[in-house]
Amino acid sequence: MSRRPLLALLPTLIGTLLCAPATQAQDQVLNIYSARHYQTDEALYANFTKATGIKINRLDGKEDELVERIRNEGTASPADLLITVDAARLEVADALGLFQPVKSKLLEERVPAGLRTPTWVAFSTRARVIVYNKVALKREAVQNYADLATLALKGQVCMRSGSHPYNLSLGAAMIAHEGEARTEAWARGLVANFARSPKGGDTDQIKAVAAGECGVTISNTYYLVRMMRSTNAQDQQAINAVGIVWPNQASWGTHVNVSGAGVLKHAPHREAALKFMEYLASDEAQAYFANGNNEWPVVKGAAVANKELSALGSFKPDALPIGELAKTTVQAQKLFDRAGWK
Ligand code: FE
Repeated sequence: MSRRPLLALLPTLIGTLLCAPATQAQDQVLNIYSARHYQTDEALYANFTKATGIKINRLDGKEDELVERIRNEGTASPADLLITVDAARLEVADALGLFQPVKSKLLEERVPAGLRTPTWVAFSTRARVIVYNKVALKREAVQNYADLATLALKGQVCMRSGSHPYNLSLGAAMIAHEGEARTEAWARGLVANFARSPKGGDTDQIKAVAAGECGVTISNTYYLVRMMRSTNAQDQQAINAVGIVWPNQASWGTHVNVSGAGVLKHAPHREAALKFMEYLASDEAQAYFANGNNEWPVVKGAAVANKELSALGSFKPDALPIGELAKTTVQAQKLFDRAGWK
């Protein structure tokens, strides 16, 4: 073929390329099953559609229900992607074989290796920190997760359920670093120190600590930052009454967890799903995690315009790869059950 006919075709080619997004907008869809419970995520989805023309159908639900649904739907499942929070939950889906391998150069470049597995990828991180009542306790008394299980804190500890993934992942990290026996002893000590039976979420524990119902708890960081940014007077009062400690700075570091996503094995729109995964690692989406839900971006250098989140400062995070941590969450559940952490 000579050059001339090709050149003659150029205007047509350019015309086709320019028209492409409009056509795709009608044809391309992405079906997301989401167990993230943050309203601020709306902007994430809307901007993806704006940028790619791919329409998102989202089914929101509880993790267990979504996983059960994907299993029941089997090869006929319309779901392309599962997005959820906490490595423990991602591991449940992965162990059931619901994901397919993710292959993306872009994700490999942008997401640190310790925050990816062959099947799912983390897009934001949060830390599980110690929160104490500044009047009731001295900061020095609550420097490590282990401190909460010592006799000195009898009747002072409030915690959410031991079956909750946030605590299971913390238990998993502890098992990886200290072994099962020590982790079980810790759980028993913790339960013995409870001021009340586990109830409510992390925010409820923070409020109970602030009100003096208990002296100390463990919470994910974004709940604290949310309260810091709240204009509600009671939230402000509560957050001012508590101190925040990065646990285990002299040992294995503070437990860090993630939110993440994986492409489902029978995804009808595999390419769109991968595109969405890559979008979640874009500067724009990364900024949403930070500014919308007060989580840290996983991509180095992603902008954080959230002064309360920045004010938390830096700390030594647990260096355990997230995929490795996820593997011991089932063990953690058995061990917490034995320890009576309901
Ligand atoms: Fe949460």
